[in-house]
Amino acid sequence: MISLRGLTKEFPGGVRAVDALDLDIGDGEFFALLGPSGCGKTTLLRTIAGLETPTSGTVAIGGADVTRLPPGRRDVAMVFQDYALFPHMDVTANIAYPLRIRKVPRARREEKAAETAARLSLTELLARRPGQLSGGQQQRVALARAIACHPKVFLFDEPLSNLDARLRLEARTFLKRLQRELAVTTVFVTHDQGEALALADRIAVMSAGRITQLGTPAEVFRRPATTFVAGFIGSTPMNLLPGTAEGGRLHVAGAVLPLPSEVPDGPVVYGLRPEYADLSPSPPPFGDGDAFSGKVAVVENLGTAHLVTLECGDHLVQAVAPEGEEPALGALAWVVPRPGRALIYRDDALLTAA
Ligand code: ATP
Repeated sequence: MISLRGLTKEFPGGVRAVDALDLDIGDGEFFALLGPSGCGKTTLLRTIAGLETPTSGTVAIGGADVTRLPPGRRDVAMVFQDYALFPHMDVTANIAYPLRIRKVPRARREEKAAETAARLSLTELLARRPGQLSGGQQQRVALARAIACHPKVFLFDEPLSNLDARLRLEARTFLKRLQRELAVTTVFVTHDQGEALALADRIAVMSAGRITQLGTPAEVFRRPATTFVAGFIGSTPMNLLPGTAEGGRLHVAGAVLPLPSEVPDGPVVYGLRPEYADLSPSPPPFGDGDAFSGKVAVVENLGTAHLVTLECGDHLVQAVAPEGEEPALGALAWVVPRPGRALIYRDDALLTAA
């Protein structure tokens, strides 16, 4: 449905916000552009929308090259972070606005607005102005405005970021259900990895104008291609520890761990999610070196579990302890990695799991 070839956007001053990008997004796909601030995701979305002109490369939508078409002729609807509602218009007029631009007769567009509003539970609010709505309601009006004109593609720029944490979770579920029902190809920008994992069919993790990894949420979570992706994805940051592979063993943060035979000797980075490590108050039976050991430096309450930080020599190692099993501050503890769950990186590329 969306096909980008060699897409580059350079701003005056030489900033390459999007750098020679190739990407294909399928019909009906819910696609996330994920990355830290400044990685180029908004510029990429705006280039697909036609709000930015690429320096080079092409944008095709539904098989047609739209690179030179203005936004209004691309059959896309964009929802902005601040919703960009018209403050002087009521909800009906806001929703119907794109239809008015398309010269749809008044009766028809009001009918369409009412129909879309009902779908998004906005019927009671049709006569209100944006200033009389909550953030969540404004977001739904912005969505309704996008839906009312039946575009080929939805483009969302951080659509949930103005909502408070709780409303954000509700809106996320709502958005996912709505996208499934409508089955419209959707590209959304977010810097929130949890949001991308929860919503998207596929995620492109971006850094410095390029795609670092493209995959399903499960692929990006389980096998991050680089340490940048590994550090970025996950609600608790992955442990990323420098180590040395030597004769099938890995020396890392005071532990000596078994390694798959295909890892050649040399420096590596050892990645382990805190969720994939078991904490123990005593050394593991199979040998003291087979686990990280250290003093408990920090215990953070996550609600249903605790995140525990151990001082292991010069390094900090984090592990998640189930509710009620968290060690005391200052106690000695051992962190046992679950087999096959650790990731071994060399030269910032994933070698294997261990
Ligand atoms: P954020 O999450 O903070 O919005 P982003 O990943 O969406 O970040 P962009 O807004 O696309 O990033 O910006 C990418 C790069 O391009 C940044 O270095 C930014 O400073 C630069 N940039 C964006 N818009 C312009 C502009 N109009 N003129 C010059 N540079 C720009």
